[in-house]
Amino acid sequence: MNRKKIYEFLREARSVSKQDIVYALKLSLPTVTQNLQEFQEKGLVDTTGRIGHTGGRNATAFSFISDARVAIGIDIQKHHNTVVIVDLDGRVIEKIRKPVHFATTDEYYKMLGAEVAEILEKAKIDPAKVLGVGMGVPGLISKDGKEVVYGRILNFTGETSENFSRYIPFRTLLFNDANAAGSAEMWSSHNIRNAFYICLSDHIGGAVILDNKVYEGDDQRSGEIGHMTVVADGRPCYCGQYGCFETYCCASLLSEAAGGDLDSFFGKLEAGDKRITELWNSYLHYLAFAVHNIRMLFDCNVILGGYVGAYIDKYMEPLYEMVRQRDMFSEEPGAYLLPCRYKTEAIAAGAALPFVEEFFHGI
Ligand SMILES: [Zn+2]
Repeated sequence: MNRKKIYEFLREARSVSKQDIVYALKLSLPTVTQNLQEFQEKGLVDTTGRIGHTGGRNATAFSFISDARVAIGIDIQKHHNTVVIVDLDGRVIEKIRKPVHFATTDEYYKMLGAEVAEILEKAKIDPAKVLGVGMGVPGLISKDGKEVVYGRILNFTGETSENFSRYIPFRTLLFNDANAAGSAEMWSSHNIRNAFYICLSDHIGGAVILDNKVYEGDDQRSGEIGHMTVVADGRPCYCGQYGCFETYCCASLLSEAAGGDLDSFFGKLEAGDKRITELWNSYLHYLAFAVHNIRMLFDCNVILGGYVGAYIDKYMEPLYEMVRQRDMFSEEPGAYLLPCRYKTEAIAAGAALPFVEEFFHGI
């Protein structure tokens, strides 16, 4: 308990003297000394600095090393991969994005291994510091993170973390992409208790957050709002049904219309491109349906995340207006409908963060 307390204090304070810890945590000097020594042996604190105290000699500063351990996260999509390294502050410290076509082949897994080696090399991180590799995938994952139980988007049902990590020399777990992004959001917003996180990425998923935890459902299928019907007998969906939310609001609908990526979509939208503006208005129209339905169902904050969520801050007002028109409780949508705060590669980072959390628990 004391060890955890001291490490947590160091992390908050960043750089303190031994006496500061003794006073702040009301612990004995030997206890603090012993724990600091253990941290030093594990390479978790830096003691090269000095802290000046008026009237006395300078004391050794014990400083938190944010990259003393790191975790790797990979966002695996049909036509691209994003690999990130997150540090102990949950910050993305390195990122590589590659156009890669998914396949359940040895060649693909070899390439994943190469990507992991490449990012460590690029960030100059010692592999001994890696806590694990998390992969956020568009599929439903078994509770232990080891198997894809439903993976129609990538046609990889039954695929295992063992296969994915064939060429990765670290512990590897799989995560549903929307749940990973929702976890990243929880990491950055400590005051979330209940929320529904809509992951507006190439496909749409959702994460139900109840009491600060992702509620996975009885069979890890909760929050699958991509397949909520928003238009009766509407557009065909890959799932075999028609009119799914997914077919009106996935991010790829926007990036493809702009000829490649979301940056160019929002660039053209800002420039007033007529076709792009019409598409965006229709996007918001259907998104408002989903927000309204979720609010009616859960009565909690609704967070817009995923790829589109990273751009949406500027466009909240028109969306609020569309939601307001469906409202029956005279609620102000601005009070519960929020753009995500974690904007840098939420899926990849969210897949890495459980390893960081686990590290803190085990300290
Ligand atoms: Zn569907």
